[in-house]
Amino acid sequence: MVLATGGTIAGSAGSAIARAYEPGQIGIAEMVAEVRALGLDAELIPVEIAAIGSQDIGWPEWARLHAECRAAQADPAIDGIIITHGTDTAEETAWLLDLTLAAGKPVVLVGAMRPADAVGSDGMRNFANAVRVASDPQAHDRGVMVVMGDAVFAARDVRKAATSSIDAFKGFPRGPLARVTPSSLDWFGPPDRTGSLARYQWPDTLPRVAILHAGAGMDEMPVQALAAIGCRGIVLAGMGQGNAPAAVLDALEATRHAGVAIVRSSRVDEGIVERNLEVDDDARGFAVARALGPAKSRILLMLLVASGISDPAEVQAAFDRA
Ligand code: GLU
Repeated sequence: MVLATGGTIAGSAGSAIARAYEPGQIGIAEMVAEVRALGLDAELIPVEIAAIGSQDIGWPEWARLHAECRAAQADPAIDGIIITHGTDTAEETAWLLDLTLAAGKPVVLVGAMRPADAVGSDGMRNFANAVRVASDPQAHDRGVMVVMGDAVFAARDVRKAATSSIDAFKGFPRGPLARVTPSSLDWFGPPDRTGSLARYQWPDTLPRVAILHAGAGMDEMPVQALAAIGCRGIVLAGMGQGNAPAAVLDALEATRHAGVAIVRSSRVDEGIVERNLEVDDDARGFAVARALGPAKSRILLMLLVASGISDPAEVQAAFDRA
């Protein structure tokens, strides 16, 4: 089953060399017809969920994707699920679905860095690679994956790390799970989520959780503003090990005492944020994101708060397990 949401993979510039383009212009039936013509051994069923740039993806599309994935996972006629998606927020959709779906049947997000009509477009190749992954028996029990640039990443690890190159996606702490081309697929290890059920229930709604990007010389006022608009959680995209000026940490601590869940992550590209290194997390009531970056920390914190979890120890336990 191919669930389409839009993005550059369905984008068109109207010219092979134009710079500006519109995402989400090409219908999924047309794209599927083109992939079928490649002669891959798969029967593809297209379903259009949306035709948007993934910067605009949110609750309505996520709820629909989750419901369609659940239905397809329960349908014995479906072997795997592909979601075509803009690359800007692919890691967030992938992680949200990874946390809320059972791991069995493969769910594969795929996008493109270049629009479909650009010279050297990567869309059809990525799509063909995604078909290969989603129809492979060894893709089962690996959770939600993202296929980009001839690599397969797990939702937990993947992030967009460059604005425009076709190998824009990177993985941390793990690199790719596999290398894929339209004619080959090499897994680097066995499935790691065998038999796993969905880790979180699909929520009725998602609470407001904000990311606060730290910068040198900033004061406490942005924290107070976030608390004033009713944020139920704040993810600090902190400096280095998830750090921030003392005034910001003090304001976050005060906000924590008012019931807002606080998670320290890092604005640095990759690395582990550890507890109680420079910041006294025990005393201040903060949790740390470990290997998750700010965007994926926000997704997990939204799910936790939606399930009534905002106690620092419980939030930390969930991030430790992630
Ligand atoms: N901003 C758009 C999106 O994320 C286009 C970028 C892309 O898909 O690569 O959907």
